Amino acid sequence: MNEIRYVNIPGNFITIDVEEWFHILNANIPEKKDWETLPSIAEKGTYKILEILEKSNNKATFFVLGWVAEKYPKLIRDISNLGHEIASHGYYHEELYKISEERWKEDVLKSKYILEDITGKEVIGYRAPGFSSLNYIETIKKLLDLGFKYDSSLFPAKRETGGNNKFDSRPFYLIQKGLKIYEFPVSVYKNGVFSIPLGGGYSRITPIPLLRHVIKKVKKLNNGYFLFYLHPREVLKEQPKLSDLPLIKKYKTYVGLKNYDKKVSILSENYNFVSIKDSSVFKT
Ligand SMILES: [Zn+2]
Repeated sequence: MNEIRYVNIPGNFITIDVEEWFHILNANIPEKKDWETLPSIAEKGTYKILEILEKSNNKATFFVLGWVAEKYPKLIRDISNLGHEIASHGYYHEELYKISEERWKEDVLKSKYILEDITGKEVIGYRAPGFSSLNYIETIKKLLDLGFKYDSSLFPAKRETGGNNKFDSRPFYLIQKGLKIYEFPVSVYKNGVFSIPLGGGYSRITPIPLLRHVIKKVKKLNNGYFLFYLHPREVLKEQPKLSDLPLIKKYKTYVGLKNYDKKVSILSENYNFVSIKDSSVFKT
């Protein structure tokens, strides 16, 4: 921990993990060999998010799964051509702690190269599936070796997959072999009793006035920094659902979908968002 340096990065960041309805961790999901034949929502949900962002002239960072990018290269080009950032969410969406380091590196680089081939632009950011990077510091050092300039896998609270309560929501960097890599954590508001992450099921059930209040608090605590996360499946009312999820998991996965697109529209109208690559630290 003593090798990290906290840094002020004022700005509002909206990040989207571009994946399918069945990319749910810790669940009995269809086998990879069958993915191709399944109905798809990634394209539809992502275009809907793009529409919302365009209306308020906001820019976002899209952490795209390599598997989705190969299936929908036009979608990825469209996102990039609209001025948003394309970053990596890996290729197969496997928890980091379930696969070997070698397999993880292959997965990350495969997605990076696919995305760079499609857009013709360098991919500098990575987010682990389900924020499943357990040892953040070690992971970001490895990402630096793989040519990344930032990571956004830190979820500074307890969660089912990954998450680390010891951290707070402030961005930081570390230097290794003379090179710098940044961490852009998801914003989580902690008041000592409960934690409200900005994104996911919690935000879907939090009414807008409370969400805005939380954002205000988070920005104050983190010198103007706030980072929100979203998935294409969250803005679609109708979508295929995994049938045999345990009850609590089912609730967490599908609660609050009814009006979340409207909520995201309101947030987009109320805040100016920029992509991570356009944040102050990457301006030379
Ligand atoms: Zn994901």
